[in-house]
Amino acid sequence: MSNYKITMMHTGKVRIEPELAFGGDHCSTAKAAGFTIKRSPQIWLPVSVFLVETPNGLLLLDTGWDRSMSPNGIFDKKAQIKSLGSRVLYHINQGVVPKGMTASEQLASMGIKPEDIDYVVISHLDCDHANGLRQFKNAKHIMVAKSEYEYAKKHEAVRFKPRWWKGLNLDLYDWNDTEGPFKRSYDLFGDKSVELINIPGHTAGLVATKITDKDGKYFLYYGDGGYGEKSWKEMITSGISMNKSAQKKSLEWIREQSMDSNCVESDACHGAEVKPHIIEF
Ligand SMILES: [Zn+2]
Repeated sequence: MSNYKITMMHTGKVRIEPELAFGGDHCSTAKAAGFTIKRSPQIWLPVSVFLVETPNGLLLLDTGWDRSMSPNGIFDKKAQIKSLGSRVLYHINQGVVPKGMTASEQLASMGIKPEDIDYVVISHLDCDHANGLRQFKNAKHIMVAKSEYEYAKKHEAVRFKPRWWKGLNLDLYDWNDTEGPFKRSYDLFGDKSVELINIPGHTAGLVATKITDKDGKYFLYYGDGGYGEKSWKEMITSGISMNKSAQKKSLEWIREQSMDSNCVESDACHGAEVKPHIIEF
């Protein structure tokens, strides 16, 4: 019998500059954000979330887009600017979430209500991860790394909008363990089975979630620490970065973890090549 069942869901799509995902070490923020005169054709990528059934309860990794991005299930510019609270963010990334595809709608179709989720674990507070948080205001815990929260507060004029988590009870946590590339992690259950591991670079408090069984087999979700297999196989950093050298060190760690024979699977949030599926181990 397996200990863990992980359901990967796509909660719509995000459209960005290819350089935002795969800009590499010398990409400017302006290029990655689409503010240069010569722009590359934009790409659509999935926005994934993961439902993790563990012996200690139900986890949801990231929350994807809120329904308010696409009230009628189709692309809606006006609604998106309102939902994001920013024209600049709308310029940088646009989204669409078809009917029935938000995280809460897909969970409802599985008979799971927001209040049934024991822990919502947010990888970081960018809009395509935190805009949907409000769907889970009744979850038992909403886990946000304190360093990510502080980073978001510092940059709330442009990149982050507190309205995405307004009125929510966030559980802000300090690191209590030493896993990962910077030896900063949070051991959720105190038994090393679920570690929230700091992989800074894209943001300061970005976390990967590592789920490990008693035999040492594990699943790794690395959020936007990379944009799929290609990122760590070819060591291509993304174009939006708060610290390039930290980002590279984090990506090296993701690569090493993903290639380890105990790794059952590792996934990014926006891996274009990965279809929704179930992982059991
Ligand atoms: Zn993202």
